[in-house]
Amino acid sequence: GRKPRRLPEWLKRPVPSGGGMYFAKSLIGELGLETICESGKCPNRSECWSRRTATFMILGETCTRPCGFCAVRRGKPEAVAADEPERVAEACARLKLRHVVITSVTRDDLPDGGADHFRRCILAVRERTGATIEVLTPDFNGREDQVATVLDAKPEVFNHNMETVARLQQHVRRKSQYEVSLRVLEIAKKLSPETRTKSGFMLGLGETTGELLDTLADLRSVGCNLLTLGQYLQPSPRHLPPERYLPPAEFDELGRLARLMGFDEVASGPFVRSSYHADEMAKA
Ligand code: SF4
Ligand code: SF4
Repeated sequence: GRKPRRLPEWLKRPVPSGGGMYFAKSLIGELGLETICESGKCPNRSECWSRRTATFMILGETCTRPCGFCAVRRGKPEAVAADEPERVAEACARLKLRHVVITSVTRDDLPDGGADHFRRCILAVRERTGATIEVLTPDFNGREDQVATVLDAKPEVFNHNMETVARLQQHVRRKSQYEVSLRVLEIAKKLSPETRTKSGFMLGLGETTGELLDTLADLRSVGCNLLTLGQYLQPSPRHLPPERYLPPAEFDELGRLARLMGFDEVASGPFVRSSYHADEMAKA
């Protein structure tokens, strides 16, 4: 069908700015780190950083999977930097972060999918800060031992995004599978019931409300605690075009329905990203 071309009014927002942001940006650059906040030009930067939340991307900037919505580079990934956990912890300490989100590309090339590097990053941040720690992990191909390695370091939140409904997985994520992602969240809850599990979606990719609610029911059936729902925005013309922009009132309604289904916390809105208001959600 015809795709919407222009952004609706509710998606226009001023570019974030401010001295605190400049400080954070230069420190992160100096330590050779990447944040999704910066590299993804996230619209929530000034808000999140003033709440002392940031999302670090570990394990390099090159992904082994070809998702059609994602701006991350594809190709042969970099070697794992053994000192990265220390550098992430140093940045978190100097920025006095209160909530730290650690995420990565998918590393199908590594024997453990990068699980032990996640574990080491969590431990390093915990040693240097009092921040709550959330991991936003790849699917580890559904391997229980790899999920167990990450959970061994006891992150407060284990987040893995389903991204979209079952029918659209192939179209949107290509090499990743609905059942595998659901299983990862199920394993995490089984191995560490006190860790809160979390998942998120980009909406506007052609899913129906019925399909979304079915997916949310699947998440509840594996005990998923926290949920984020946001608008998909095309990172460049080479990426999948959005089918539709959901009005804010529709996000409110979906959020209300999700809470009725038993999620402990739901963030739902056009600008919601998987780490948006993550500090509040982790503590709720
Ligand atoms: Fe960073 Fe996530 Fe906040 Fe965006 S929503 S600024 S990626 S912490
Ligand atoms: Fe992007 Fe993750 Fe897909 Fe890799 S697996 S392309 S980082 S969404």
